Amino acid sequence: LNRRLAAFGTTVFAEMSALAVRTGAINLGQGFPDTDGPESVREAAVRALRDGRGNQYPPGPGVPELRAAIAEHQRRFHGLDFDPDTEVLVTAGATEAIAAALLALLEPGDEVIAFEPYYDSYAACIAMAGAVRVPLTLRAPRFRPDLDALRDAITPRTRLLLLNSPHNPTGTVLTREELTAIAGLAVEHDLLVVTDEVYEHLVFDGEHVPLISLPGMRDRTVSISSAGKTFSFTGWKVGWVTASPPLVTAVRTAKQYLTYVSAGPFQYAVAEALRLPDAYFTAFREDLRAKRDVLADGLADAGLEVFRPQGTYFVTTDIAPLGEKDGLAFCRSLPERCGVVAVPNAVFYDDPDAGRAQVRFAFCKREETLREAVSRLRRLR
Ligand code: PMP
Ligand code: GLN
Repeated sequence: LNRRLAAFGTTVFAEMSALAVRTGAINLGQGFPDTDGPESVREAAVRALRDGRGNQYPPGPGVPELRAAIAEHQRRFHGLDFDPDTEVLVTAGATEAIAAALLALLEPGDEVIAFEPYYDSYAACIAMAGAVRVPLTLRAPRFRPDLDALRDAITPRTRLLLLNSPHNPTGTVLTREELTAIAGLAVEHDLLVVTDEVYEHLVFDGEHVPLISLPGMRDRTVSISSAGKTFSFTGWKVGWVTASPPLVTAVRTAKQYLTYVSAGPFQYAVAEALRLPDAYFTAFREDLRAKRDVLADGLADAGLEVFRPQGTYFVTTDIAPLGEKDGLAFCRSLPERCGVVAVPNAVFYDDPDAGRAQVRFAFCKREETLREAVSRLRRLR
């Protein structure tokens, strides 16, 4: 392993999911639903496979049907206009979009500011690009960004802000005011911003405001989203970028040498998914809201300190009230102690002390599964 990647081992998600399989514990660790997405969307994938659409290399930017559907979705939900031919790029999940954007836009030594705890691929992709990560810590209990600290963190070497809202793992949804302040700093210091919006449809309190919709941001933002969370098909790995033509061209240049293309037949199915009626998106959100409440209330009842998320499908907790200090040790012992798997937030921080006692639980599971998990956790008291 080269020096850039020396610090990165197996992702915590792989470790914890393997632990769940090995022990038969309830897996509230890795964020994937235990119920697949809409039947009609699955059928659309089967039809595409059978009809021979996408079984050979799709076009590099993505199939035209999907690019058109992505542009329509941006217009329907956010009032944003993107040209499907020059301003939309289909990727192998949001993960590839993030990697390609950072590899395309950063010079070695550039500084990238991101709020920690962050989704684990950010640090690795910044490292692969030879850039330097500058973490700003979101602190419990509210996990709001410190905008003065952000201003202070910007240096002449800062090239890019990497922003995730709704935020994994804290569930913070940035407000329009916070985003406006961030946009102001980006304009003032001529920064690029990459926004990870994969949980855009999972906002329970507040609203999702795409940063790219704010003044001065249209030509300096790479907006990223994905079908995995919104349609409960995390295995399909269909994601996308929407941005100005020069930024899409830059990201595509890197992308074409990473995977070139992917997910042919699934691209047609996701095009249909993006055109589902508003009722689908509302029902999906309300279902997850109810599950959030079941898990958050249950975890509080089991004695953990719960930071109720405004969005995503994760609840961050603090295990100190259980007399526990170390989230990693706690998560490694949890399957044996009570048959549940969770994820230690410490791995999402540069500063290991900042999140040492935080543990994340996913609630994208059947309600009876969540109830069983919290009743098992109650044994820890
Ligand atoms: N960003 C965040 C914040 C995530 O939680 C995830 C996990 N799915 C991803 C990106 C990756 O998305 P995808 O599966 O589409 O690659
Ligand atoms: N995004 C999911 C999570 O945060 C997992 C993605 C992955 O395994 N890389 O749990």
